[in-house]
Amino acid sequence: MELEEFRTALDAWLNENAAALVPEHEGLGTLDDQMAQLSKVKRMTYDAGWMRYGWPERIGGLGGSALLRGYLGEALTTRDLVEPGIYSMTEVLAPTMIDYAPPELAAEMVPRLLRGDETWCQGFSEPGTGSNLASLSCRAVRADGGWRVSGQKVWTSLAQYAHRCVLLTRTGTPESAHRGITALFVDMDSPGITIRPIETMHGAPEFCEVFFDDVLVPLDRTLGEENQGWSVAMDLLPYERSTALWHRAAFLHRRLQQVLDRTDTNTLDPAQLGEVTQLLYAFRARSRATQHRLAGGEQLGPETSIDKVLLATTEQAVFDLALDSLPADVAIGEDGPAPRWRSEYLYSRAATIYGGSAEIQRNVIARRLLALGDDR
Ligand SMILES: Cc1cc2nc3c(=O)[nH]c(=O)nc-3n(C[C@H](O)[C@H](O)[C@H](O)COP(=O)(O)OP(=O)(O)OC[C@H]3O[C@@H](n4cnc5c(N)ncnc54)[C@H](O)[C@@H]3O)c2cc1C
Repeated sequence: MELEEFRTALDAWLNENAAALVPEHEGLGTLDDQMAQLSKVKRMTYDAGWMRYGWPERIGGLGGSALLRGYLGEALTTRDLVEPGIYSMTEVLAPTMIDYAPPELAAEMVPRLLRGDETWCQGFSEPGTGSNLASLSCRAVRADGGWRVSGQKVWTSLAQYAHRCVLLTRTGTPESAHRGITALFVDMDSPGITIRPIETMHGAPEFCEVFFDDVLVPLDRTLGEENQGWSVAMDLLPYERSTALWHRAAFLHRRLQQVLDRTDTNTLDPAQLGEVTQLLYAFRARSRATQHRLAGGEQLGPETSIDKVLLATTEQAVFDLALDSLPADVAIGEDGPAPRWRSEYLYSRAATIYGGSAEIQRNVIARRLLALGDDR
């Protein structure tokens, strides 16, 4: 199906099913509410076919361009039917699973994620390992029947809801750095896994500490080759900065419009409004070009760091404007949309950290794209 046809038909379906799709909770809701809403919307859109477009037939998709996935996320976000961060975990994890899992495993598992029957998480960061991902130490050793995993992950988004985890483990020597990492696809109900949610300053336990104590992971759950997990990570990170960011751009566009709707625009600082608007449109233009490159079959790489820098700058600028324009809502309000504005304002502070910090993205841009120094 072509994008225009998809867009028209999807919009009509969303209008027809508006009452059934709308969240059951009022306002922001809890993370439990948001996760229940996400599962409902994914199930309905999958069963009606929309969620299957843009994904390959070998994992149960209906084929077509990746732009269709981009529009579906945009439409659901713009209508406030899903929270874009948790919705976009599918865009972060499913493409790499399709690229690197044994084909039968991808065919079995990816439809469960697309339909909202399952939640997956990304186990990369550790207490001593964030930006310097190649130094990770969560260890996997070969044992009868598979791998034995011991160690700790942290900041693992949605781990308390997750059925599976795309996990990076150390299989080489501690000095082997990026050459001694293996990626595994782990069942989160395996014996030996302990999950402790962490409440963030925006008021939700979005991420967790995850402890692995001698957890058995079957050999056929290895993603890619042994000690080649770095290529899995490098495959995944650009996905985290492509379609997922297009959805986030749609969300920021809607929030900027809502700020303008709720404010006497004559009271706004025109320079600030101009700055926010041009940032948002620059980010969308950049992200649009990335969607088209992805849809054209190009392998995305370090140039997606530009998209991430633009997202972080735009997200904070939009919510800075919200704070300046709606100070009572963002700072102290308890009624109506106020808790949502405050929560989203606080979450926007994380935009320069999640998915790779702004400083690291700028290092990548300087070294890998502008050749300003080496890439050690
Ligand atoms: C909301 C949220 C959700 C997340 N979800 C997940 C998830 O699901 N799974 C997961 O694995 N991780 C997740 N993370 C973790 C995230 O990937 C890391 O926080 C991020 O990579 C930064 O790592 P760090 O926190 O260890 O900071 P550090 O790497 O310790 O960095 C601290 C500061 O030093 C700066 N810095 C570090 N090295 C350099 C350098 N070489 N040059 C210049 N500056 C430098 C950084 O920019 C940063 O400002 C999440 C984080 C957040 C905020």
